Amino acid sequence: MDIKKNIQDIKDEIKKYSPHPDKVKLIVVTKYGGVEDIEKVLAANYNVIAENKAQVFRDKLKYFKEKKIENIEWHFIGNLQSNKIKYIIEDVKLIHSVNKLSLAKEIDKQAKAVSKKVNILLEVNIFGEESKHGYEEAALIQDLAEYKKLENINICGLMTMAPYTDDEDIQRQVFSSLRALKDRLNKEYFSGNLTELSMGMTNDYKVALEEGATLIRIGRKIFE
Ligand SMILES: *Cc1c(COP(=O)(O)O)cnc(C)c1O
Repeated sequence: MDIKKNIQDIKDEIKKYSPHPDKVKLIVVTKYGGVEDIEKVLAANYNVIAENKAQVFRDKLKYFKEKKIENIEWHFIGNLQSNKIKYIIEDVKLIHSVNKLSLAKEIDKQAKAVSKKVNILLEVNIFGEESKHGYEEAALIQDLAEYKKLENINICGLMTMAPYTDDEDIQRQVFSSLRALKDRLNKEYFSGNLTELSMGMTNDYKVALEEGATLIRIGRKIFE
């Protein structure tokens, strides 16, 4: 496992596959291991990481704060329950996985309480898999007017997960659909303010990059 090399390889691939490499950020998913994995990422001179469980996020955050290591950019990518927002709200840079209006309302409320504006993405279940979270397109559009009333959240873009498959056509179909949805929402509802497309994991990030991802979330490939 050479984390530094793995990160560099992905950075090179961003240049190779993305139509706009300057807009793309690699997010290292550290959910498989403990704090030592994050320490290895920091030692490789990288600091953008993501967790998918709120309590684990809280515990790892606490570990680094106690060590006075404050330069980590924390992303949250998992299914978030309203009663656990408090564990992440103050330190999270971006919540990728907002999939319900009730959750967004609670994030907004708690953000207001700590005088913060919280960056979020709306998670969309493009392929309609039962096992995955995320909005169905029509339901999302129905909720948008309510989202726009929430003053302490900042909607930056969309997130999706493709089905786990090696079929590149399916991957591409999912990612290009998310991009098309972002373009449509930008035109009809957000006057161009949606800038982010969080899509692409170890299995499918090259296709996601080709289709315009701005945030790729990679775990296994970094730590393999
Ligand atoms: C685990 C996870 C990833 C990273 O997946 P890998 O296959 O390890 O790259 C990305 N996004 C989400 C939402 C995840 O839960």
